[in-house]
Formats: sequence, structure tokens, C-alpha cells
Amino acid sequence: MTAPTRADCAARDASDPLARLREEFDLPEGLIYLLGNSLGPLPRRVLARLDDAVREEWGAGLIRSWGDAGWWDLPIALGTRLAPLIGAQPTEVLVTDSTSINTFKTVCAAATLRPGRRTIVTDAGNFPTDLYMIEAAAKALGGFAVRRLEDPLHLADALDADVAVVELSHVDYRSARLLPMRELTAAIHAAGALVVWDLAHSAGAVEVALDAADADFAVGCTYKYLNGGPGAPAYLFVAARLLEAAVSPLPGWHGHARPFAFEPAYEPAEGVRRFACGTPPVLSFAALRASLSLFAEVDPAALFAKSRALSTLFIELLEPTLQSSALELASPREVRDRGSHVALRHPEAAKLVRELEARGVLVDFREPDFIRAGLAPLYLRFVDVFDAAFALARATPSPRAVSPDAPSSLR
Ligand SMILES: *Cc1c(COP(=O)(O)O)cnc(C)c1O
Repeated sequence: MTAPTRADCAARDASDPLARLREEFDLPEGLIYLLGNSLGPLPRRVLARLDDAVREEWGAGLIRSWGDAGWWDLPIALGTRLAPLIGAQPTEVLVTDSTSINTFKTVCAAATLRPGRRTIVTDAGNFPTDLYMIEAAAKALGGFAVRRLEDPLHLADALDADVAVVELSHVDYRSARLLPMRELTAAIHAAGALVVWDLAHSAGAVEVALDAADADFAVGCTYKYLNGGPGAPAYLFVAARLLEAAVSPLPGWHGHARPFAFEPAYEPAEGVRRFACGTPPVLSFAALRASLSLFAEVDPAALFAKSRALSTLFIELLEPTLQSSALELASPREVRDRGSHVALRHPEAAKLVRELEARGVLVDFREPDFIRAGLAPLYLRFVDVFDAAFALARATPSPRAVSPDAPSSLR
């Protein structure tokens, strides 16, 4: 099989049902942006929506906009829009706070639903804020131990009758390894524990089926693949069957049953709303509402298929370089085990990332020697992936070229 050419990639773009979405984004000319897994680019429609939210809703509507412009309902309304992307029912999702805070809230809520058990399990390689928040939850709950797994795929060994909660990232932020949500959730339930899934690196790029997997809780952010903008509010998911019993450890007045009665004692609101805390960032909600409206126009299955196609193409195009240089694939080779970014390792990774930037390709460097390329399916073209792989292959030194005793004709 011969490697795809740039013309092959252009042909794939021409028949891509999602191709028109690129025009919805304000991406700088000549830049190949492979960092949508860290901060999604600006959807053009956000500009008009924000302008309206500032001038009309805030400027003209003033305090009346809490009701008239639907500000009060946005945490639920946006959760409803997000739900189909993560395989949830509309009533199970709330847009609120940050992923860090939602991790604390859901881990505490889950632990409280398993009285008598005093261990929280997570992945030693989890995103640091998850680790910090889990430690903080253990401390706040009192007398809890945290068990960190070297390999979450060997979760079964760590599950015993003391485990109350397991918190895992669906897609690993470094390697892009995708965990089998359904199987792991079933194993966790079989051991009598509950699970919290962190979807930060999956929602909007890969299929997430929370209800089908029988997940209990989930959290995630909206500024990565969901393009909600810097500091956009995060979300949390609580399975419908737990909504009566689950309570937030941070009971703010926005999660009260009757917030405008200003009662001295807390009483949780009905449903997922009880996980709201204080007054939310309404202007950020406006941007997120506009960016999520793009997802409502696409078939999620087509989006996730394109994500798989882009990362598979990227690896395929890099194959000769992987064979002939010190560049290594640090993501799973099997597409079913991989999220939407591709991680590579190279002893001179930092230098390669700088060289790529000089050629108009933005990727990121992670200590000590990782390169991450986010291949967001909503706005990237197959030719972008071709050009990025070509630039990386060109920038990567072949072992012969750097060998001091190579004949000068090879240097
Ligand atoms: C990006 C990311 C976060 C970010 O948390 P914030 O509170 O939004 O800063 C948390 N967890 C994971 C796994 C992430 O990838």
C-alpha cells in the first residue's frame, strides 16, 4: 500500500461532509493549529453572540436579563445541548464551575453514596489537577485513603470492599490512550464502587456514551474540543438514578431549592441543578452557547469518524520517519484505543516543536520529550494533516544525518 499523497488528502476534503465547518472558525491564515485539544479556536458566531450578550442583555437588560434573557436557566440549557455529545439525557448534565472544582464535587458526592468504604482509586498518571482534587476530597471527607494505580487497565487488582470511588480520565492527556468505559464501569460496579469519568480530552472529539456505559458521574471542560473559549465553564454529569440521593459538598445558593427565598438553611434543588454553587460567568456562557450550536449542526458519528481518520492518516504519513529516525509513537497504534490527539517522543522534541512553529504548524511540547498534535475533526482538513506530517518528517533529523562520522555527502 502506498502512502496517501497531498492530492489524495485534497480529494478526501472535497468529499468530507464536515468540510464547510472550517469557515465557521476564525483561524489565522497559513497556520496549522494542532492545539485544539488544549484551547479550541474562535468560532466566528461567538463574536456576534458576545456582542449581543454584552450590549443587549447586560447593557440594556441589566438585572432583568436573569429572567428575560434566560441567564438563570443557562447552566441547565447548556447541559441539555451538551448531553447528546456525551451520551447523556438532558436532565443529567449541568454546565458549571471548572473541571477541577467539579472533580472535587463529584468525587465527594460519590464517596458519600458509599458509606463505610474509605478508599478512592485513581490513575497515577492522571492529569495533575485530578490528583490534587482527589487528595483534597479524601481530606475533606475525613479518613479516606487514595490509591494510585500504575496501570488503570489493571484496575481489577485494586478493587476491594473498601473502595468507594474510582476516578479516571477517559482519554489520557499525554498519550491519548482511550480507556474502555463500559468494561471498566462494569468492573467498578461489580466491586460495589462508583465511578467518576473525566472527559476533558474526549468530549467533542471521540464518542462518549455515559448512559450506555452505566456511568455514575462525569466531569469535563468546554474550552478544549468544545471551543467555548478561555476559561469557559466546565460541566458535570450525574446519572438520573443517583439524582435524588447525590448531594454537592459545596452547597451554594444557586443550587438551593428556593434561592430567592434567602433561607438560612440549605435545601438542595431538584435534579442536577443542586450541583450549582455560586453565580456563574454569564458572558462565558454566551460564548459557549454559540460554539455548542455548531455541534448541533453536525452528525456526531461523522465527527468521531473524522477524528479517527485524521489521527490514523497522521500516523500513516509519519510511518517512514518512525522507521528511520529517533521519532517514536507514544500513543496507542490501534485507533479504537486512541483519543483524538497523537503523542510522539523524540530526544530533541522541544527543538522539533520550535521548528514546526517556524513552518506554521503549532503543536505542543510536554516534558521531558513529548510532542502532542491535537487533530480536532471540526475544523481541520486532511491536507492540514498532510502538511503537518510533512513538516515534521522534514524537521526530524535522520540518525545518519546527525552522526559525526557520516560521510559529508550525507550530512
Ligand atoms: C484540561 C484538563 C483539566 C482542566 O481542569 P480546569 O479546572 O479546567 O483547569 C482537568 N482534567 C483533565 C484530564 C484535563 O485534561
